[in-house]
Formats: sequence, C-alpha cells, structure tokens
Amino acid sequence: MKTEIIRVYGIVQGVGFRPFVSREADRLSLAGTVSNKGSYVEIHAQGDEKAVDGLLKALKGNAPERSEVLDVISAHADEPPYAGFEIIESEKEQGDIFVSPDIGICDKCKAELFDSSDRRYLHPFINCTQCGPRLTILDSMPYDRVRTSMNEFPMCESCAKEYENPETRRYDAQPVCCNDCGPEVYLIGTDIKGKAAITAARKAIKEGKIIAVKGIGGFHLCCSASDEQAVKRLRKLKNRPMKPFAVMLKDMETAKRECAISPEQETLLCGWQKPIVLLKKKKGGKLCESVAPDNPNVGVMLPYAPVQLLLFNYDDGIKTPDCLVMTSGNASGAPICRSDEDAVKEISHFCDLMLSHNRKIRLRADDTVTDFWGGRPYMIRRSRGFAPLPIMLSENFGGQVLAIGGELKNSFCIGKKNLFYPSPYVGDMADIRTVNALKESVGRMCELLEAAPAAVACDLHPKYNTVTAAEEMGLPVIKVQHHFAHILSCIAENDYSGKVIGVSFDGTGYGEDGTIWGGELLLCDYSGYERLGSIRPFIQAGGDLSAKEGWRIAASIIGEIFGEQGGDICEKLSVCDKKNFKVLSAMTDRRINSVISTSAGRLFDGVSAILGIRKASTFEGEASMTLQFEAQKYSEEPFADYEPMEKLTAQKETGVTLCTHALVKRLCENRLSGRDTPQLAYEFHALLSDMITAACDKIRSDSGVSVCALSGGVFQNKLLLKMTVARLEKQGFKVLTHSLIPPNDGGIALGQAVYAAKILERNN
Ligand SMILES: [Zn+2]
Ligand SMILES: [Zn+2]
Repeated sequence: MKTEIIRVYGIVQGVGFRPFVSREADRLSLAGTVSNKGSYVEIHAQGDEKAVDGLLKALKGNAPERSEVLDVISAHADEPPYAGFEIIESEKEQGDIFVSPDIGICDKCKAELFDSSDRRYLHPFINCTQCGPRLTILDSMPYDRVRTSMNEFPMCESCAKEYENPETRRYDAQPVCCNDCGPEVYLIGTDIKGKAAITAARKAIKEGKIIAVKGIGGFHLCCSASDEQAVKRLRKLKNRPMKPFAVMLKDMETAKRECAISPEQETLLCGWQKPIVLLKKKKGGKLCESVAPDNPNVGVMLPYAPVQLLLFNYDDGIKTPDCLVMTSGNASGAPICRSDEDAVKEISHFCDLMLSHNRKIRLRADDTVTDFWGGRPYMIRRSRGFAPLPIMLSENFGGQVLAIGGELKNSFCIGKKNLFYPSPYVGDMADIRTVNALKESVGRMCELLEAAPAAVACDLHPKYNTVTAAEEMGLPVIKVQHHFAHILSCIAENDYSGKVIGVSFDGTGYGEDGTIWGGELLLCDYSGYERLGSIRPFIQAGGDLSAKEGWRIAASIIGEIFGEQGGDICEKLSVCDKKNFKVLSAMTDRRINSVISTSAGRLFDGVSAILGIRKASTFEGEASMTLQFEAQKYSEEPFADYEPMEKLTAQKETGVTLCTHALVKRLCENRLSGRDTPQLAYEFHALLSDMITAACDKIRSDSGVSVCALSGGVFQNKLLLKMTVARLEKQGFKVLTHSLIPPNDGGIALGQAVYAAKILERNN
C-alpha cells in the first residue's frame, strides 16, 4: 500500500478532469481524493503500487479529449488510510492558470437534444463535461458552479443526481441543467418564452425577417442567407454596404454544397472551437450575392450553441432556411452586445425580434475567424474557443505584464512568466463604448488569471485611446512601436529567440520619427529593433480620408512620379479629374493635412485605384482585398510568368528602400497601354514580393541574419504571403509566419507583452 500526491498541470479545469480521475481510481480500486487547486488538479492516490502506476499512466494517456495535460508531478507521501475515493471541494492555490475556452456542443449532447425520449429534448442549454460555455460564464477560478453565472440556477433533483454520479456524462459538469432547472429563452420586450419564443424566432427567419439571437459570447444578428431582400435590408440597417457577412450553415452537408472544402478545412470547421472559416464559394449554391459581394470567399461556421441548432431544427413544423447570416450583434464601432440592456439600446433597430436568455455572459467573446494556409489555420480574429489559451515560450521572462493591444481590432494580452494569455477580441477603440469594454475585460481577465501586472505595455501613438487607458492604470508604462510589436508577436508565436529580419506590412502605425509607418523592414529580437528599410515614402494627403479613399494615395504618388503631367495621367486612369488633382497637389506641396507615410496598406489602396478596381473603401481593407481577388483571377498557383523589373531596391549603406514608385510608374504606363487588369494586379503582387526578397537579401548580407518573420495586416493577403514565402525560401531564408495569432492588429498585444516582460527581466 502506498500513497502518492500527484499534481496535474495544464487545461484540467472545466473539461471533466476530476470525474475522469475518479472513474479511473474506481477502476483501479484506489482510495484518496481529487481536487481543483485553481492552477492544477491535485490527486491523493492510495493503493497498491501497480494501481498507482496505472493511474499515472492513464493521466498521461487517456485524459479527456478537451483537456491538455502539460505536466504531471508526483511525490510519495505518508497518509492515514482513506475510506474511498472522492472529489473534494476546490481550494485556491497560486500558480499558472489555464482557463478552458468555450466548447461547441458535442455529438452526444446533439443526439440527446433531438431525441424525443430524452429529458433534455430540445433544451436550449444542454451541455456536459465535454461541451458548453466556460470562459464566458466564469467569474473566478477555480472553475466551479458557484463561480459561474450558472450560480443563479440551482440544479433540480435529476440534474443533481447526474452531477454527483461518476457514471454519467455530467458528473461534475458545472453548467449542467435541464428543461426543469436551467436558464430560459424568451423574446425581449414580450412575455413570450420557451418553445413559443423559439418558434416565433424561426417563423420570423422563414418570413425573411431579421432577428437578434443571444448565444455564447454575445448577440448575433441573423436572417436567411438565401434571401437577397433580407440580407440587403440588414446591410441597409447596419449601414454596411459591402463588408462580407459570416454565415452559419445547418451542417457539413450544407457547407459542402455551398463551398469547396479540403479535409483539413473540414476538420477545422467541425472541431470543438467552431470558428468561422474562410472558404471558397461554389457556383450554384443558395447563398445570395449580398452575403459577400464581389468576393470569391465566404466566412462559414457550423452551429455551436444548442439554441443555434434549434433555429435549424425544431418540432414546430416550420421549415427554416439551411443558410443563415450570423453577424456580430453590435452597433458600428461598438463591442458585441452581451446583455438585454445593451441589445435593446444598440441593435434593436436592426431587427424585428430579439431572442434572448437569462444565463448571463460574463466576458464577451466574438466568433473566431480563421483562414487557412500552409496546412494550418491562419488566424484573422482569435476569440471564442481559442481565448484565453496561453502561448507558452520556452524562455522564462520576468514578472507579470499587461499589454493593452492596438487601436484597431483590439485584443489585449496578460503575461505571467513564460505564459502569455491573449484575450478575446474586443474591437475598434475609436468608440468610447469599446474602450469601456476593454477596461472591464482587462479587470475581469486579471481576476480570472490572478494576475497583478507590474507594468503595462501600449503603442507609441500619442493620440490613441488605448495609450490613454494604459496611462490611467497607475502602472509603469512601456511603449512599443507598432510594427516592432507585430514582428515580436510572430517570433513569440513561433517561440523563436534569435534575431530576425521582420517584414512588417500593414495599414498604419506611428513611427519613431513621427511619420506613418507600415511597409517596414526591421532587424530585431526580443530586446529591440533597427529600422533597416521600408517601401519608398510618399505623401499621404487628406488625413483620415486617405485611409478610406485610395484614389488620394494614387493621385499623390502619381504626382510624385510624373510631376505636372500627373493630372493628365490621373484623368486618363479615372483616378480623379484634373481639378481634384490640383487641389490635392496644393495640399501636399504645402503639407496641409498631409503626412509622410510608408504604409503598405495605403500603397495597395492606391494601386487598386490606379488599376480601376476600387477608388474608395467602405470598410477597412476593401480596396486592397479586391486588388488581391483581381490578381487571383489571373493566376494563383502555380505562379505565372511576368516581366521582371530591373531595379528592385535602392540600397543604402545600412539598409534599403523598396523601389515602389518605379513599380507604380510601370503599372500606370502598362494600364495606359491597355493591359489587362488582373494581369497587372498579379504583377504588382509578384514584383512587390521580388522587392521584399531583394531587400531581405541585402539585409542578410549586411547582418548575417537569415531568418525572416512576416507580420502585419497586409499579410492577410494570401497571394502576397504565398509569393513572398516562396521567394524567400528559394533564396535560402527560414521564414516565420503566423498561424494561431493574427497577423493583423489583433495580434500585436502578444508582441507588446513579450517586450515588456523582457524589459522587466532586464530591470530585475
Ligand atoms: Zn456535450
Ligand atoms: Zn435539471
């Protein structure tokens, strides 16, 4: 007879880990206890040696599907005999915390949901130890019902029996409930609830109306995705003319009817995280054009909350569409609504009916959006299902830090030693409501992760709301240059600790010299960076307007290249008329409302205007995205031939400038000579990747560094990404790219956090 005290570290809370241990102990006739310690699970196992070994083996080999065991430490102990094996109340201990993300409904629960003999038949909140809400209902750790928003719903006798019986799937499942004791759905502003509410919502969808539905991490706005009128109306109400809507499709079969799906994409689509996956539309599907206008792709997800499944399938005899638009329920610029109060105030005028429920959402979590590249997910928005899983670095940094993140697509990040926990998506910080949501979420995440940051990291920009928020926290502030933070996030994600040549291409970021940066080549590592190159600077005229109106960038660069002839050329290319060109030139000459910029995002916008693809954008990235789609019409893979350019870079003593003006000049001339738009769009991508590669080559020969890291929102453009990676690898570079951290501004908090942690380490 021996006793071992075993500690299991990793994601072992809220995933049925204690019940699993208890079942294994019973099987092996072990006595003792198991408890949650907040950051780990502690087991006291008493029995013969073989049985204890059996348990250790099972912990590593048979752990529940949703758990992730990172470490098992065991030590011998002398303890009086236990009578049996039991799960004991959670106690709090300090340490590394792993909070489980929310988990999409599992197959067993789905089967029970539609089994008319099951006591949870059609129960909109069905869940078990393997599925259901986690992060979004959690108040604090350790994960127990009393510390979640399920605290308000005492279990009925039948549920309590399952909760206490190790033989059931709901043993120790914190959010367990049923039709008798669980939360309830209802229509906001009426006394219609339960079945009648779901039927009313389904009827509204069928009739082409727009509804709001409260899910796991917030509200969605929803309507039939095969009803052009309904989708157009939603666009009009939301004032969102072109930006694609995500869709929720009934099942995999429907998804395959609508989209081309590779086996890897299928796995991602039906995995427990249930992200929105960007997929190529098929011809002849039922999705109407307005869902994702002028776009070969569409963001698709499968239902992950039971209430969403019920919108597709119910016992009321109504046949609802199998494709639904499911877009975040928020007012433009504001965070996703999570309470009835928010929803009534902010989105009730976008919809005809609001289906809500009384299980409170503690932390917002938008849907995760991911693309697919190189056999892996390529994250666009990392949120529900992924947050707050930490990034683990092999290097142990000092102290605890909070990184407040960027101004657009904000998410923040908490760092503790070698673990970095990115938050769910928060939103764009121009809106005060989002700033408030950020402050609230920071407080909640710090509490959950028991973090007490010693410093806060933020951007350099003097006017950002995130910077003000960081400065108000009363902690030492560490400012991190935007494009440097992008590259740091990429090397941290890859757990790479050496020097890299960072290619940081995005829309906008404040440079050390007060100009706008965004097409940068940085030689850097965790401790700092040197700016060794960029695209050729141009004058960005028109302030904020120039970010939306690419023709202004086009006219400005054309003016710099062709001088007075620029007006003629702009008119011939339909960029703008001579009068507008003159006004713009006068502004740039006198530097009125004009700044020097090396923004690659703006360069793409400008080229989009020059090629007659988009003169302006109704949403961020529209002009550059359509430029990419044009190029893909010409060729995607295998790469097509094109005429190379002689001079790719202007070399400086240390560093390099990309000859982007020469590239634009060539595009203008070729377009004037009547060349095909898709071909020119393709050549722009190809020649730009040639330039990036040549520039990296020059930096390698000066520095000896042969690892490149590609980051920044422009690398959401997969054509540019593919071409650049292929060229760099051909030249013998090792190339680091993103996968689970977004290349866009949603990812920079991780970079800010590792830099701040490095500074703390140095100062200690
Ligand atoms: Zn389940
Ligand atoms: Zn119950």
